[in-house]
Amino acid sequence: MGERCPSAASHWSSSIAEQLDQAFWRTWPQECCGVVGRRRDGRLVFESLSNEAAVKERAFEVSPADVLRLFREAEAREETPVAWIHSHPSGEGHCSQMDRDGFWVGEHWLWPGMEHGILWLDAENRLHLSVVGPQKRSNEPKVNYSGVLTPISV
Ligand SMILES: [Zn+2]
Repeated sequence: MGERCPSAASHWSSSIAEQLDQAFWRTWPQECCGVVGRRRDGRLVFESLSNEAAVKERAFEVSPADVLRLFREAEAREETPVAWIHSHPSGEGHCSQMDRDGFWVGEHWLWPGMEHGILWLDAENRLHLSVVGPQKRSNEPKVNYSGVLTPISV
């Protein structure tokens, strides 16, 4: 195609950094969650989902009806879901036991073609995104990408 490869520094999250930042702070100190979809033109969109967990500061749960609705709407718009997003409002970017239980059932990665992104704050209150992609089950999942969320337009 003759197009230049995107630089390694421009992760997909940079194009929706602002939306992810807003989702994080809108729900803080509770966990936020949602899905990133890719439109046919390549643009990314972030859809928030309501957190139904009993203790929203330490967990997120999404209702099956919401998940179905979101995936059906994405299908109708010809969007491809590419990542689950949730936040650790007062924790680090490591995958929790609960996170890992949501990645796999047995050895089976539950979300083919989808990554999991965790939003978290460092000691200087900068918002980071750590992304885990489909992989073999492990207690220390390999992180595909981790970086400070930096919107393209400041
Ligand atoms: Zn988590």
